[in-house]
Amino acid sequence: MLSVTEARERILSCFQAAEEETLPLNDCANRVLAGDVPAPHDLPLFDNSSMDGFAVRSADASLITLSVVADIPAGSVPMVTLTRGQAARIMTGAQLPNGADAVIPVEDTDFNSREAGTSAPKTVSFTKNIRSGDNVRARGVDLHAGDVVLQKGRKLKPQDLGLLAMLGFANVKVHKKPRVALLSSGDELVEVDAVLTAGKIHDSNSYALAALMQQAGAEVIRLGVAKDTRSSVEGLLQQAVAQNVDLIVTSAGVSVGAFDFIKEVIESNGRLDFWRVNMRPGKPVVFGEYNATPFIGLPGNPVSAFVGLEVFVRPTLEKLSGQLDGNRRTVNVRCDEEIESDGRESYLRARIRDENGVHFATLTGPQGSGNLLSLVQADALLIIPAGVKCVPVGQDVEAILL
Ligand code: AMP
Ligand code: MG
Repeated sequence: MLSVTEARERILSCFQAAEEETLPLNDCANRVLAGDVPAPHDLPLFDNSSMDGFAVRSADASLITLSVVADIPAGSVPMVTLTRGQAARIMTGAQLPNGADAVIPVEDTDFNSREAGTSAPKTVSFTKNIRSGDNVRARGVDLHAGDVVLQKGRKLKPQDLGLLAMLGFANVKVHKKPRVALLSSGDELVEVDAVLTAGKIHDSNSYALAALMQQAGAEVIRLGVAKDTRSSVEGLLQQAVAQNVDLIVTSAGVSVGAFDFIKEVIESNGRLDFWRVNMRPGKPVVFGEYNATPFIGLPGNPVSAFVGLEVFVRPTLEKLSGQLDGNRRTVNVRCDEEIESDGRESYLRARIRDENGVHFATLTGPQGSGNLLSLVQADALLIIPAGVKCVPVGQDVEAILL
């Protein structure tokens, strides 16, 4: 049986980053940059004051009282050049006048009227020492024109959008969002708003899986629930292909039950690459193509489907979306209890408690693959490596934070 790592590598080798598109900055949150971004100009672009106060020449530090020759609000261009004994009232963010090389905060002067609307005084006195550069944000201290400020493959965070706006990028080249078709399968499944009659359950996988994939940056096209018949499964997969998606994701119908048609349908309408992985939960995972569209079939049990998505689909979506910094971030956690495993690579639901910088992990109770509550209660999935049958108390393992 394939290891998780081999299976993931086999999947990832079949995908590449989606094409580029240019979007208005406002639509770029969580999108992935398609190229490096060099700064078109310095930041700040001009020497400016970091305080409300008085622009001065540090050479005048010994003078104590200066005459105020200008008033410079933010956004204006100073028309004066300060000479010996002169100061200008200046607001935060306003451009420094020529001749000035420091700003005295208004708090450190004898000018007390600080309410909005007061005009500048004729003279100003101060007691504090002044050094050149005090309270001045010099041109280019943050970055210089030509510096690469954001790199290709970065998923744009809110603060990145702020920086791009500072630099005047109204439009940004990003990768297209991966498009994924999602369907559930099983005769027992009914829609979330349907009345549960005997033997039926709500289709819950499609909600958890769609949300996870959207979080990973995908556009999800929900195709509903296929019945446990060949023709129903083929009908929905055909709809998925018609939607021109990058990937089809299904849940259930991949085990060895008498009504599990997925594997057979993939085999006879495309290519089956593998259908089992040495992991728990989630051993039956199908990878292949349905009529030339890449296909990942996850198991039906809600926790198995979730884990399969996290382990195989998320990295696929990250690669498709062009993300280069998207590798799963795992942390080390210390087991609070002895953990038994069956030797497959296991993903166990655990709560994390932090103590003196150490993450301690306690399982959230029953680890049955149908028990979604224990996943809801978990902060992390512990990864017990293949071949390990027992993890003693106090041992560290890797974990995916949820
Ligand atoms: P299967 O893989 O079809 O054998 O299904 C395994 C288990 O997962 C069964 O108990 C199913 O009822 C359950 N299951 C399958 N699909 C879903 C779904 N979409 N939502 C919730 N439970 C599901
Ligand atoms: Mg089924």
